Amino acid sequence: MKPLKGGRLEPYRAKRDFEVTPEPTESRATAEGNSFVIQNHAATRLHWDFRLEMGGVHRSWAVTKVPTLDPSVKRLAVHTEDHPTSYGDFEGTIPAGQYGAGTVIIWDRGTWAPMGDVEAGYHKGSLKFRLVGKKLKGGFALVRLRDKSPKDRGKNWLLIKEKDEYAQPGSGDALAEQNKSVVSGLNIEEMAAHGAIAHSEGASRKKLKKVKPADLPKAKEAALGDVPEPQLASLANHPPHGEGWLHEIKYDGYRTLARIEDGAVRMITRNGHDWTDRYKPIAKALASLPAKNAIVDGEVCVQLPNGATSFAALQDALATSASSKLVYFVFDLLWSALSKVVRVQS
Ligand code: MN
Repeated sequence: MKPLKGGRLEPYRAKRDFEVTPEPTESRATAEGNSFVIQNHAATRLHWDFRLEMGGVHRSWAVTKVPTLDPSVKRLAVHTEDHPTSYGDFEGTIPAGQYGAGTVIIWDRGTWAPMGDVEAGYHKGSLKFRLVGKKLKGGFALVRLRDKSPKDRGKNWLLIKEKDEYAQPGSGDALAEQNKSVVSGLNIEEMAAHGAIAHSEGASRKKLKKVKPADLPKAKEAALGDVPEPQLASLANHPPHGEGWLHEIKYDGYRTLARIEDGAVRMITRNGHDWTDRYKPIAKALASLPAKNAIVDGEVCVQLPNGATSFAALQDALATSASSKLVYFVFDLLWSALSKVVRVQS
């Protein structure tokens, strides 16, 4: 495919505060791809964001009603700003007050192939292509409408299913019933309940206060060693009395310590086994932390839509290699080299 020139992310970035929203800032640093994604987005109005990867960005149209395989139905598709290709991995909740506030699920995704010259078709306002998605398949056309008023500026297009073996004449809005994410399996309501957990590599970039070892009176200097044995909970018949106690949630997962040395992450079970391979997305996320040398203590879990952790769901995710479902709750920083060698002990 001939790459399209002029894909620009400035308008996308200008609308968003990346210290608040979990949406990604950058395109994937990969060569020219041919992905497409449709994100069902419960913003002020429910819509389906249809994105085709072209020239290193996702060219985007907001489709105002559920996409269809019915060739007799024409869907209004309003051209919106280009999005980074990594946006195709995003689902979760855009916080209130932010641009596009509301919940997003990945309604469909896959690959696309142009029928004819993409750049010429795009500029002419008549783009024909084939989709290989989970819900949408076969030939489609995006056709630009003539402006009714100057302020339309070529933004109004129609998304139309071509007549082919994948067409379902008379099906109308039938796909509205297929309302779950093709990634997480959650519908919009379940995703909203799931909280602002972004299944995106660009997790919240909220600025965190830097901890200085000098602020930690009990911190001791020590070289980075192997991971220590985790401190385990003990059973008691009654909660403790007195001040100085905090109650915390019991996570139903696998206790796991992460050892980061020069940015290389190893995930170690409480019995000392290296499970980095099983926890790849978590290790990758930890590698992007500002601290390049640290030991953290936490629990690897899978959350149900209501937010509770489920050991059965965790075992299922591990058995099926569904590692993108894993969540790592970090509750302690045991060792960190921020400005000097230091071991933190509570
Ligand atoms: Mn949207």
